Amino acid sequence: SKISKEDILKIAAEENIGYVKLQFTDILGALKNVEIPVEQLEEALNGQIMFDGSSIEGFVRVEESDMFLKPDYNTWSIFPWSDEDCRIARLICDVHNFNNEPFEGDPRSNLKRIVKEMEDMGYDAFNLGPEPEFYLFKLDADSNPTTIVNDKSGYFDVSITDTSEACRREIAKTLKDMDFTVEMFHHEAGPSQHEISFKYSDAVTSSDNIQTFKLVAKTVARKYGLHVTFMPKPLYDEAGSGMHYNVSLFKDGKNVFDDPSDEFGLSSEMRYFMAGLLDHARGYTAVCNPLVNSYKRLSSGFEAPRYIAWSGRNRTPLLRIPSTRGAGTRAEVRSLDPSANPYLATAVILKAGLSGIQHQKDLTTPVDENIFEMSHKERQAEDIEDLPTTLYTALKALKEDDVIQDALGKHICDHFIENKTYEWKMYSAQITDWEKEVYLNQY
Ligand code: GLN
Ligand code: MG
Ligand code: MG
Ligand code: MG
Repeated sequence: SKISKEDILKIAAEENIGYVKLQFTDILGALKNVEIPVEQLEEALNGQIMFDGSSIEGFVRVEESDMFLKPDYNTWSIFPWSDEDCRIARLICDVHNFNNEPFEGDPRSNLKRIVKEMEDMGYDAFNLGPEPEFYLFKLDADSNPTTIVNDKSGYFDVSITDTSEACRREIAKTLKDMDFTVEMFHHEAGPSQHEISFKYSDAVTSSDNIQTFKLVAKTVARKYGLHVTFMPKPLYDEAGSGMHYNVSLFKDGKNVFDDPSDEFGLSSEMRYFMAGLLDHARGYTAVCNPLVNSYKRLSSGFEAPRYIAWSGRNRTPLLRIPSTRGAGTRAEVRSLDPSANPYLATAVILKAGLSGIQHQKDLTTPVDENIFEMSHKERQAEDIEDLPTTLYTALKALKEDDVIQDALGKHICDHFIENKTYEWKMYSAQITDWEKEVYLNQY
């Protein structure tokens, strides 16, 4: 740990910290917290804060629901928006059970388990640079979110009347104040749609960063009377919101995806890793695209992928290789959306890639034409499969993929499937406005 218990206690006293939020994430990706007065900080840092996990989504084990929060000292951070003379800080925690072992229902501890598998294979880091997209919507008079857009600009637009621009910049600035390296931010293709991409970090830190980013974005937007949504496809006729994952593996501080002696500058480890990502794409889709709504983004075009293929140039397939080489050589996984639980999504992506390396899977040839314009026959000829088109088919594919199930562990996997199956059933039973409009008169 870069920072010690004593350092944290000292900073807490100097910086007028009044309260500390101890955060963790449930299986469905919701950020949770308990708040302690600063007097309890030492106890918390010792990992002695106990809580009742029985009401947390996916933690339910009433018989043994006493759980401990084990703070990761490196995640110590002060919320820039808190009051000068009573500031609020946070620590992200692992959840341990009463035997003091990592709780298998804790997504962050589960990700560490997969990272350990990677380390056992000789790698020291899985570097991940996420590019989350989101919409900024107006609030109504009761402060409830609407789907009314706040600006009508488009991709990379400059606007002088844009309150969205000020809000987006303040989100980026707040992240910087929390020691978070923002790479760039810009208007996206949809009206009121934006993107803030951050610098890569290791698997666990990047997943923590996504959770922090979501909290910061939502908090800052409220100051502007706006609502940030990470719902993947809030507007029928506009682009959906994705969260591309830029991924690479490092060994001894070097990017092992890079190979200057190769014709394309790509190492065989990278090809195996990508083959693993393609091979398990159907299996991990439910985790990376976990909402009924996720599939409306995936099936609507607007640069969201629908087919399992890779390309060096084209943006329509699942995987793209950005042209950067050297330390920045990476694969961009384009299917993920920001409603995914980042700890689970990172675990399944990493595990899929590692399994490609373990089995030295052959990578298919790249598809450089626009797949959306290819006919079904042409795709079949090239063996290009579809991503699942509904949450239902994605869950079915997950149940057929042992590697991805293993990446989640039994506890998380069972709970995830049970919960999402229920979500699908609830949704399928609805009678939608579309059905009424189209069917009521005609039949
Ligand atoms: N919004 C697109 C998606 O759904 C991505 C657009 C882009 O970043 N070029 O994935
Ligand atoms: Mg981008
Ligand atoms: Mg984008
Ligand atoms: Mg991208």
